[in-house]
Amino acid sequence: MWDVAVIGAGPAGTMAAGTLLDHGLSVVLIDKSAFPRNKSCGGGLPDHAAKLLDRLAIDWRPVQLDSAISSTIFYDFSRPMEIALESAPVRLVSRKSFDQLLLKWALQQGDLELLEKTAVSSVEQLPDQVVIRLSDGTCLEAGFLVAAGGAGCPVGTSINPGKSAGVAVTALVNTSADIIERFSSRLVFNVQPDLQGYGWVFPKKHHLNIGIGGYNTTKLKTRLRQFVSRTLTGDDYQIAKIFGHPLPFYQPDTRFCQQRTLLAGDAARLVDALTGEGIYYALVSGRLAGQTIARVLNGELTSVSHYEKLLQDNILSNLHWSCRIARLFYDHPEFFYQWVLGNRFLQEQLKKITSGLTTYQSLQQDISDELGDDTFVRDFFDLSG
Ligand SMILES: Cc1cc2nc3c(=O)[nH]c(=O)nc-3n(C[C@H](O)[C@H](O)[C@H](O)COP(=O)(O)OP(=O)(O)OC[C@H]3O[C@@H](n4cnc5c(N)ncnc54)[C@H](O)[C@@H]3O)c2cc1C
Repeated sequence: MWDVAVIGAGPAGTMAAGTLLDHGLSVVLIDKSAFPRNKSCGGGLPDHAAKLLDRLAIDWRPVQLDSAISSTIFYDFSRPMEIALESAPVRLVSRKSFDQLLLKWALQQGDLELLEKTAVSSVEQLPDQVVIRLSDGTCLEAGFLVAAGGAGCPVGTSINPGKSAGVAVTALVNTSADIIERFSSRLVFNVQPDLQGYGWVFPKKHHLNIGIGGYNTTKLKTRLRQFVSRTLTGDDYQIAKIFGHPLPFYQPDTRFCQQRTLLAGDAARLVDALTGEGIYYALVSGRLAGQTIARVLNGELTSVSHYEKLLQDNILSNLHWSCRIARLFYDHPEFFYQWVLGNRFLQEQLKKITSGLTTYQSLQQDISDELGDDTFVRDFFDLSG
């Protein structure tokens, strides 16, 4: 019997496991994959995620493949807008190496029992423990459970049934060194009205990561191939691999804990609906889940329900705003794109969001302070608020 079982060794699960071990607790970390494993992702690590890792003395620099100091945003392949990111670059990592680095960090925090190639099939919550059934039919017992098994986590989907709001697919594109160089040190985004989302090109040193994601989940592979072909018109390239995944955008009615189980990361639907960013929220929620359980076990808290308050104080109100703004933006993308394109102040705010330098609440305040006399701005916030 372990103090805590953690499902999933992605950013949320390793952060939870490392935090719990740091408090001297016994932890079993279960993942259906063998590590190092790949994960479909753009691997864009915004500045606030890098800073959080710095605070925990986790050195992400060895796995950095590029560092974007600018971004070019298009609206349907036209009307480019340049956004400088020098003050807070977005780091590009391979998820295989990044997740392996976090797992190594967790293993260094204490005596972690790691079960790889082991899928959890179901969970039973008893008054004083959680029984975790594995796909080979055996069972484990733990005092608490952190369910961080990503978008398809069986525990996450049983506590919050229903489909993820979005989907993203990404292609690993091999091409010549000079074409990769053309995209080096910058991010390219293309707002796509038909997708209710956007496409991206992220440089990864030896290849390009080109992907699309949004609310419209139909024909994504075909759309992705079209996006790659338009992005690299006239260039020689080869799509080595396409892989996709649901994007569990934040939804206001989500439950984050139940009895002795806490959900973290994608399993708790903690993805920013405007940008599709989820790594930072996985790291923060994993850490908060670990801290909450440690405080229950040392008698400081009487139940894990405090986790919800911690999430609220740290990330939920931000995600709540991103969800509202995303719905408005992706329902009327051309209108809002044109608004930002014609306004330097709004471009500055967009830069802060891309880098994680501001929250959506502060953004709302800053925009109201700067442009509050504008009736359109007032209507916008009335609508989104
Ligand atoms: C195409 C795409 C591009 C993205 N790009 C970005 C980006 O550039 N920047 C960003 O910040 N976010 C991005 N995201 C979102 C980001 O990938 C996720 O938010 C993040 O990986 C969530 O981390 P996690 O630890 O919650 O889950 P995951 O990283 O998904 O880890 C979950 C783990 O649980 C394991 N697991 C699942 N089910 C079981 C089971 N039944 N039993 C045992 N183990 C199980 C899996 O093997 C996996 O290792 C992107 C997402 C997609 C789909």
